[in-house]
Amino acid sequence: MPMKTLSRAWFRSPIAALAIATVCVATTGAQTRVTPPKNKYTPEQDVQIGREAAADVRREYPIIDDPQIDRYLDLLGRRLVEAAPSELKQPVFEYSFTPVNLKDINAFALPGGPMFVNRGMVDAAATEGEVVGVMAHELSHVLLRHGTANATKAEGFQLGALAGAIAGAVIGGGWGQAISQGSQFGLGTWLLKYSREYEKQADLLGAQIMARAGYDPRDLARMFETIQKQGNGTPPQWLSSHPNPGNRSQYIADEANRLRVGAHPDDSGFARVKQRFTTLPPAKSMADLARSGGGGRTEGSAPTGTVGRDVPAPSSRYREARGGRLFQVRVPANWTAVSENNAVKFVPENGYGEWQGQTVLTHGVELGVARASSRDLGAATETLVEAFRQGNPEMRVTGEPVAVRLSNRPGLGTPLAGRSALGGAERIGLYTVLLADGNLFYYVTVVPEAQARTYEPAFTRVLQSIRLSDR
Ligand SMILES: [Zn+2]
Repeated sequence: MPMKTLSRAWFRSPIAALAIATVCVATTGAQTRVTPPKNKYTPEQDVQIGREAAADVRREYPIIDDPQIDRYLDLLGRRLVEAAPSELKQPVFEYSFTPVNLKDINAFALPGGPMFVNRGMVDAAATEGEVVGVMAHELSHVLLRHGTANATKAEGFQLGALAGAIAGAVIGGGWGQAISQGSQFGLGTWLLKYSREYEKQADLLGAQIMARAGYDPRDLARMFETIQKQGNGTPPQWLSSHPNPGNRSQYIADEANRLRVGAHPDDSGFARVKQRFTTLPPAKSMADLARSGGGGRTEGSAPTGTVGRDVPAPSSRYREARGGRLFQVRVPANWTAVSENNAVKFVPENGYGEWQGQTVLTHGVELGVARASSRDLGAATETLVEAFRQGNPEMRVTGEPVAVRLSNRPGLGTPLAGRSALGGAERIGLYTVLLADGNLFYYVTVVPEAQARTYEPAFTRVLQSIRLSDR
């Protein structure tokens, strides 16, 4: 069962203070000078945070263990590190380049150097230069220490919470379109979610590194365009956490014009590695991973169907379910549990899964724990809502929070609305209560507005059945 410990509960850290940093990007003659933003952490702390989070990723993700693919990614990565400006290469950093057997078009790098590249990203790339482009961009976030720079901006933040925050970000599942759209894997993504200023920095530095490594920086822009097209209208995960600062292709092309591209390396490995991928077991999606126990065990691992198909109404029969040692709840008997480290969803068939490259929850509930920003329930809830909105600007509060009883304690109910992954309006309910240890317990309900009337009685009945056992 999930929610093993509350000690990992801070991952959905609702840090709202991702204020836009003023970042120094000055043009000096040839190439644009890119200066790392303010950072109160040490490079050693970057390494520690990244190392712990990477251990979680390796445990939870389908890592590809294939010498040929490993060697290839490592070769590309080393070429880029080699070409990086020496003043940004922290001697303590530990670079690694790990292939993951996931089909979602994504790649991410953790503070201090660990980088993970999904098979889906390589599959989508037309040339080696395009893969290198994404890697150079990710490496630039590492070199500029953007993860801990984000944390520096976040007020009242403690280092202890950081590693888990990233792991949660990486491992956590999707939350309704209203919540998951625009965030990488859910709410806890604040550390891997970059501002437009940081994005531009990573693009420019990435372009410079590519050129020195012998690749045309325009391949970086081409890959972004490829990623954009794959979304089918919905932005793919990677673009959600790496927002387009605007004119991306244009300023990358401008920068490329200022750069001298080194001798082009042998890129014959690209075709061989693409071929090699086809000999592996089929790639999973993030939705498969969440169902099969990535980030925690699922109760029975029952399949949750296919998003987009008809979703059955809540059963009138209810069954008992548990969230680790933290809570008991009664849910409609036809809802399946999908568990993550700090949360569990209960979803009807076809109400949760992969949809246009993202993991979405269109119908159902989620119960979990977030780190509270305050001992005041109203303030802590506002911060949590703000964190939702960071991931999804379309989501909005639709009314005043109301007092509710949750497990016989004073709680708050906050009505929200968003846009359903299936199209049309989505109704979201957020219920919060403070736990004895100061964390925030939440209960979220998600349903398309058109079906709200069918679902509201079930949502209310689930709410009334929640029994917390934290004290
Ligand atoms: Zn980025």
